[in-house]
Amino acid sequence: MDVSKYKYYLPFSVKNVERNDNSMRPEQLYFRVLPRVVPCNQVSRIVIEPLFDYYQINKDAFYEVGVVPMEHRSRNGDFFIPSSFDVGAILNTVGVQTIKPENGCFVFEYTFEDEQEQIIYLREKAGEKKLVGAFSVYSLKEDLFGRLPLKGDLHMHSNCSDGKEPPAFVAASCRKIGLDFMALTDHGKYTPSIKAQEAFRPNDIDLKIFRGEEVHAPNNPVHIVNFGGGFSVNELFTGENSFKYQNEIEDIMQGLGAIPHGVNKFQYASCLWVFDNIRKAGGLGIFCHPYWLIYSGFSPAGRLTDYLFETQPFDALEVIGGYYKYQVDSNTLQVARYHEERAKGRKIPVVGVSDAHGCENGQLFGWYYSIVFTPSNNLKDIIQSIKDGYSVAVEKMEGESARAYGSFRMVKFALFALRELFYEHDKICKEEGLLMLEYLKGEEDVSAELRHKKGRAINSIQKLYAQ
Ligand SMILES: [Zn+2]
Ligand SMILES: [Zn+2]
Repeated sequence: MDVSKYKYYLPFSVKNVERNDNSMRPEQLYFRVLPRVVPCNQVSRIVIEPLFDYYQINKDAFYEVGVVPMEHRSRNGDFFIPSSFDVGAILNTVGVQTIKPENGCFVFEYTFEDEQEQIIYLREKAGEKKLVGAFSVYSLKEDLFGRLPLKGDLHMHSNCSDGKEPPAFVAASCRKIGLDFMALTDHGKYTPSIKAQEAFRPNDIDLKIFRGEEVHAPNNPVHIVNFGGGFSVNELFTGENSFKYQNEIEDIMQGLGAIPHGVNKFQYASCLWVFDNIRKAGGLGIFCHPYWLIYSGFSPAGRLTDYLFETQPFDALEVIGGYYKYQVDSNTLQVARYHEERAKGRKIPVVGVSDAHGCENGQLFGWYYSIVFTPSNNLKDIIQSIKDGYSVAVEKMEGESARAYGSFRMVKFALFALRELFYEHDKICKEEGLLMLEYLKGEEDVSAELRHKKGRAINSIQKLYAQ
């Protein structure tokens, strides 16, 4: 591959033009660049190492390195980079450091300013100043730098409700597509999520399998996911508990006072009850698919949806839900609604979920998921990070670039993470997922292989961060 042909694209396009998708830059395949994520506004040491004899370093020659902050942001606002296609002219403005190769690597120190992607141009000093490559790193403020991006799906079904495969199969399939955590959330059923956990209990696997359920409270059309809760909320209103449920809802209704015209008071009170009980269980209460189109129109009714946004009893919004390709209007409406509510000053934590009803039917599964920036993969940290706004919803349809939805800051970094940070991680997850499926087939000896891979996926991301 001739890197020089990319030099006219690199200043403005972060896409891999050859592969026509938003996977990593071609240079990342042929060089090892470490670290890729650095704390902003302090000195970082970057090492660029050519791999596979892709580039022959002349150890006696001098090279030049220049850094272009993609958004031209600096603490002092003192960057005046011309909008240009000419790398030479750009580097004249930002300035270059002259470096000499050390032990077959290009090494330099730099203070990357503010929170943004930064392009590193590396070129030969002599002659035509041939470009060696353009690389990128991302500089983060402290709060985001202390978190790793994890992929997860918080809403999906097994054949214990109306899905296709058994709980353990679904969990293994989640690993196969690169997820770090998941919860099975069958309709009205909590135990399938426990089954998924227990199937792999003898193995110390890295996929975090959490408990969950989709809660369908009586006489309430709002679908709510209990993600990670330590007990079932569905069980609080079934069987002999149904009378208690009715009484508790009536109590809530009495305490509500006047509510807007057109909002069904019972349904709203029931939503409060469900979200409250999910929180008591230590779970995350997710307001599911508010623009789900059924024969009666959108479900739930618009006035109830309005009031739920206004009072926000939920912990997170399914801003991207598991809709089929002919239903994209529903996600489009949810995204528009999210932005409108945010413009009113509301903080709305978001998740993206597949709501998949099968892992191998080429629909939904893997199309939609969440990235959570979290200090650890513990349930508590993941839930708190979502509540604090450190998450995005991702939409990745076959053959298309990934899109991310959420706050601008999280989306900006998520797009970089998707393109640059998950390459090794996803490969390892795929191997592990396949081994987990083998284990379910009865191949006991794969346990040792799974143990051998322990920690590798998350380490593959961790090692890209400055230490
Ligand atoms: Zn649903
Ligand atoms: Zn569902």
